[in-house]
Amino acid sequence: MEITFRGKRALVTGAGKGIGRATSLALARCGAEVTAVTRTKADLDSLVQECPSIKPVCVDLSDWEATDRALKDVGPVDLLVNNAAYAKLQPFLEVTPDQFDMSFNVNVKAALHVAQIVAKGMKTRGSGGSIVNVSSQASQCALKDHAVYCATKGALDMLTRVMALELGPHQIRVNSVNPTVVMTKMGKYGWSDPEKAKSMTSRIPLGKFAEVEDVVNSILFLLSEKSAMTNGVILPVDGGFLAC
Ligand code: NDP
Repeated sequence: MEITFRGKRALVTGAGKGIGRATSLALARCGAEVTAVTRTKADLDSLVQECPSIKPVCVDLSDWEATDRALKDVGPVDLLVNNAAYAKLQPFLEVTPDQFDMSFNVNVKAALHVAQIVAKGMKTRGSGGSIVNVSSQASQCALKDHAVYCATKGALDMLTRVMALELGPHQIRVNSVNPTVVMTKMGKYGWSDPEKAKSMTSRIPLGKFAEVEDVVNSILFLLSEKSAMTNGVILPVDGGFLAC
């Protein structure tokens, strides 16, 4: 199945590392004009060095006003990947308000905000579009020490559904991918301990974590016309974890 994004303009958040970076590069390889948004300038510099056609935008997405300023001149966008997220593991009884606020600001509020900016343009142009929110298996399954992270991803799933409902009439599709563990910087933070990793892989029918490419391929499918009738879907990329 060949997917092309020639003539399409894409915006990816959290594009400096991990899944967001690989998604930006894959979109560019498939012909899209890509705007990469993240908060660490060094990551953007190395991304542009690797793929000079990518347009960098450096902003901390937890800051609503700064995001408005940074995306003011971003131009029309056809494809959005809301990928940036923050994870801080804390036992439930030790959750702090600052970590709660930071997690919801990045994982939920920024996704809503960037989607509002992009979808308003899509609606005005009457062009339609496709939005993919990068959620997690943690949205639907309780994981120890992940109270806030799980709550943000649960909220993001419901946001995906409501966005699909309200934006669908404008031919804007909204779906999510919900990966199991991927050994990016974030994945290593939570799952580097071999015993802990084994406790997770043993619950995944395919017996392994996901690769970055597994997630990228599902994102590309949901962004593309190959999924033209798919809207409001929460797509696990988890080797069957959520099926059990
Ligand atoms: P990484 O930590 O590797 O990359 C996250 C990217 O998001 C980084 O470039 C980071 O920048 C950026 N980012 C974080 N906060 C902000 C912010 N406030 N403003 C702008 N950019 C920000 O994570 P992954 O690639 O693993 O995660 C990508 C997505 O996949 C996330 O939504 C995550 O929840 C989800 N996911 C990941 C899983 C995993 O095991 N890795 C499993 C399931 C879902 P910086 O480094 O500068 O902070």
